[in-house]
Amino acid sequence: MVSREYEKLRPQLQRFCGCDMCRGDVVVYALNRLSPHYVSTRQGEVLTELSLDTDQERARLDVVLLEAFRKVSLAPRCGALPAQLM
Ligand SMILES: [Zn+2]
Repeated sequence: MVSREYEKLRPQLQRFCGCDMCRGDVVVYALNRLSPHYVSTRQGEVLTELSLDTDQERARLDVVLLEAFRKVSLAPRCGALPAQLM
């Protein structure tokens, strides 16, 4: 779901590098700041379940993702020039 939101927001941030490394950094940054939702099944598997059923939850994910875009863009590890996105 973080990846899906990434793809949604990415086109709005034209100065963002968007290479694989920067994309990965944004997704990892966002995931580390979202509270995990783990559920275990009767088979002993552990699944992650992030409910985005409400506008409020989706809005929170977008806020975290935009912060990630901003942070990564200011110091891209891939060697691209730092950019101020917003
Ligand atoms: Zn990059």
